[in-house]
Amino acid sequence: MRPLRLVWIYPDLLSTYGDRGNLLMLERRARLRGLPVEVTEVNSDQPVPRDGDIYLMGGGEDLPQTLATRRLQADGGLHEAANRGAVVFAVCAGYQVLGMEFGGTDGAQVPGLGLLDIRSGRGERRAVGEIVADVDPALNVPRLTGFENHQGVTRLGPQARPLARTTLGTGNGDGTEGAYAGRVLGTYLHGPALVRNPGLADLLLH
Ligand code: GLN
Repeated sequence: MRPLRLVWIYPDLLSTYGDRGNLLMLERRARLRGLPVEVTEVNSDQPVPRDGDIYLMGGGEDLPQTLATRRLQADGGLHEAANRGAVVFAVCAGYQVLGMEFGGTDGAQVPGLGLLDIRSGRGERRAVGEIVADVDPALNVPRLTGFENHQGVTRLGPQARPLARTTLGTGNGDGTEGAYAGRVLGTYLHGPALVRNPGLADLLLH
């Protein structure tokens, strides 16, 4: 059987608050289902494999976030994978990177990868703390919990749907949390998100 290919993008730049746990959780749950798994960790000086099944990105500070975006743009591998229908799951900085633009270190907007119809900017206050959010009923995933720590605020365009609606915490900053379009999903939740929310891990494995 062809293994399930998990690709962890740029752990050298994007991996805060234990986001690597998302990779460990997917690997573990896939193995429990008897699926052979192949894990590839891609640092920012390496090419992104085109043939992965699930791509993961974590959070990061502002400067590494901008650097990661430039390298992913130049590489093109993530675009190619997303365009052929691979799953992409990105957290916080990774989530903003997937969008059309985000707020950079010097206040200027930085163009994102354009894989998700969201625009992020810098909010007035940093959102730090626990977050609870109810997932879009279409996804059939139980209520999410997590930890957030970000300056960014995010607005969704018409091609993206909110992943969830917050009952506690800030998320995107307008009562929604995260976004998805097809198989590309992003969230502000750390925790790690897939460890605290196994239902979300199973959604990615479907
Ligand atoms: N640098 C981004 C922000 O502050 C993302 C932070 C993070 O990934 N924790 O909004």
